Amino acid sequence: MAFSQTLDYAFFEGNIVPFADARVSIGTHALQYGTGAFAGVRGYLDADGHTINIFRLKDHMARMMKSAKLLRADLPYDAGDLADILVKLTEKNAPASDVYFRPFIYKASVQLTPRLQGIKDEFALYMLPMGDYLDTTRGQKAIVASWMRVPDNAVPSRGKLTGAYINSALAKDQAEELGADEAILLDGDGHIAEGSGCNIFIVRDGTLITPPVTSDILEGITRRSFFQIAKDLGIPCEERSIDRSELYIADEAFFCGTGVQIAPIATVDGRPIGDGNWPVSKHLHDAFFDIVRGKSDQHRDWLTPVQIKQPAGAAAH
Ligand code: PMP
Repeated sequence: MAFSQTLDYAFFEGNIVPFADARVSIGTHALQYGTGAFAGVRGYLDADGHTINIFRLKDHMARMMKSAKLLRADLPYDAGDLADILVKLTEKNAPASDVYFRPFIYKASVQLTPRLQGIKDEFALYMLPMGDYLDTTRGQKAIVASWMRVPDNAVPSRGKLTGAYINSALAKDQAEELGADEAILLDGDGHIAEGSGCNIFIVRDGTLITPPVTSDILEGITRRSFFQIAKDLGIPCEERSIDRSELYIADEAFFCGTGVQIAPIATVDGRPIGDGNWPVSKHLHDAFFDIVRGKSDQHRDWLTPVQIKQPAGAAAH
């Protein structure tokens, strides 16, 4: 899936402009050195057909400000201002389907030295229509990548920093070239860290387990949400290091993240996970989609509803 179709308007250099006009110089620092930070946020069409529920907008913008801090970015916006810009752009683009937001902060000066200080920062945002990122109608084929997850004291893993995604791209290519869907990266100690663009959970004897934030992972907002949903459902949860061999013998395993949402893993390195019935994953999946589609009374505070006024003549569906 290429996801190259964007919605008509973007936010760029302080204004909402046509997407085609949101352009930067080839000398841009962030383009040369990967000195940017981004977020990926989803908006779900509510069961009512004319509201987009932005999922955990405040939390995404708060994490983005933390990434900005790691980048030493200096912006004229706080997390609340960024959230307001997302809402305004949603109203302007008036999507009629689920959407994905790509906000990012980048070092915008034309400047040759790879440094973080003293460079002008900008904030930009665009949107795409988006359904599933991985094909979630079936279990995922995963491999353990030979590429290690970038260690925090090389590039901060808990920042969603653009340059660090070379690491994800190397692992994803390896997975796809081996006929798999997704790669699992190990941390510097050889423990499970995460997928190329998602966090990972396993289930053993009814307990939900995920690697700790010190395993060089991105501190995923979906990861945090599933932990909370599992606690609500009375499922025991543990945050601790996971060995590769534990993954092989797990009863269930799944990827989660904003793009992936929740995607059960069928095989790792050709070994089947569990018996092909993944009851805990299915339970979590159903609870999650009830929340994001506005069908549940649980965690209503995770949704920022934006009313969509369709252009005259267009039918909401
Ligand atoms: N890890 C990586 C490397 C990612 O790119 C993502 C996607 N943002 C995640 C984990 C999941 O994070 P979140 O749930 O906040 O989207």
